[in-house]
Amino acid sequence: MKRIYLDHASSMPVDPRVLEFAKPYLTKKMGNPSSLHSVGLGAKQAVEDARKKITKFINAENEKSIIFTGSATEANNLAIRGTALRNIARGKTVTASAIEHISVLNSMKNLQKNGFIFNVIPVDSTGIVDPGKLDSLMTKNTVVTSIMYANNEIGTIEPIKKISEIVHDKGIYLHVDATAAAGRIPVDVQNDGIDLLTFSSNDLYGPQGAGALYIKPGVKLQPVLLGGGQERGLRSGTENIFAIAGMGEAAGIIQNEMTQESNRLKKIRNKLIDEILQIDETYLTGHPTKRLPHHASFRFSHIEGESILLNMDMYNIQIATGSACSSKTLEPSHVLLAIGLKHEEAHGSMVITLGRSNTLEEIPLITKAVTETVQRLRKLSPLYQKGGD
Ligand code: PMP
Repeated sequence: MKRIYLDHASSMPVDPRVLEFAKPYLTKKMGNPSSLHSVGLGAKQAVEDARKKITKFINAENEKSIIFTGSATEANNLAIRGTALRNIARGKTVTASAIEHISVLNSMKNLQKNGFIFNVIPVDSTGIVDPGKLDSLMTKNTVVTSIMYANNEIGTIEPIKKISEIVHDKGIYLHVDATAAAGRIPVDVQNDGIDLLTFSSNDLYGPQGAGALYIKPGVKLQPVLLGGGQERGLRSGTENIFAIAGMGEAAGIIQNEMTQESNRLKKIRNKLIDEILQIDETYLTGHPTKRLPHHASFRFSHIEGESILLNMDMYNIQIATGSACSSKTLEPSHVLLAIGLKHEEAHGSMVITLGRSNTLEEIPLITKAVTETVQRLRKLSPLYQKGGD
């Protein structure tokens, strides 16, 4: 059975062109960028070349504003804890939307345990941040607000430019987690008015093990990792040059191909949504139009997401249910609860994220597998037999 991989938000294959480019940094071009000999200088050059490509990718002011980290999680921790702790004189309040990734929410909660006030900004039923609530929940003591560019579970794209105006009117730093959005839609930190931006290599078809944090010139942070002072003292630890060189190359390639690929995926995605919504008691989650082009998310009444995932895997089709990053818990997704779903509704979710390997020809196979899976699981569901939710 041919594999149909529909879980690109969890992990992506490395682009073969990226692998070819970065492979020598694992073997003969390995080197520590801090070493002063020629091999070390070669490694340093690779990191600086990658920084240039990343600067262009998000239209940052200059290369100095890019800090490489080991992951998006680490960049989120550095952005939030780093700004809050360094700027404590400005106040001890932080805010984030209710649908942020757990690495943002847990960074905020950790600050809360250490004496900060953490205000959560609600979203509407499509996942859009409520601008009125955002305005009223930020006080003169708020240091940093974190709103994601687009949500990984429901695909909703936030109005970042408008949010930036509201946040900046109050003199607060805006951190944006663009892990789900970067590479799918254009992200321009200067045009969007962003102070801190997180994204990761693997979400650009680059290797696992690298992330990046953009820091607008003038924004001051305290490091989270202490050591040898790499990355302008903000992220100590020997650089993962294979992943960093790969991330730079991946960003350049994806930027060149984004418009064409996003249009291609949008066509497949739209057709998939049309087909899957034909199934009884099936609903789209997230925004119907303001959503990432490769993203489709649903909920099915009376059945469990975990069972859908395992049944779909028997067709050799990989999907996700809720956040891949916290799928070890059986708690319903905090994102689906935040858009107003009841616990039992949030349990029946399925998330599809398309990528380069997907084609229009796969649609009938996917639709058939989803339809049969839902029918099979509903037959087994006592809730469905009673006809109640
Ligand atoms: N932010 C968002 C929006 C994500 O979807 C993810 C997971 N891909 C992360 C942050 C964390 O990424 P990682 O687990 O690679 O650190």
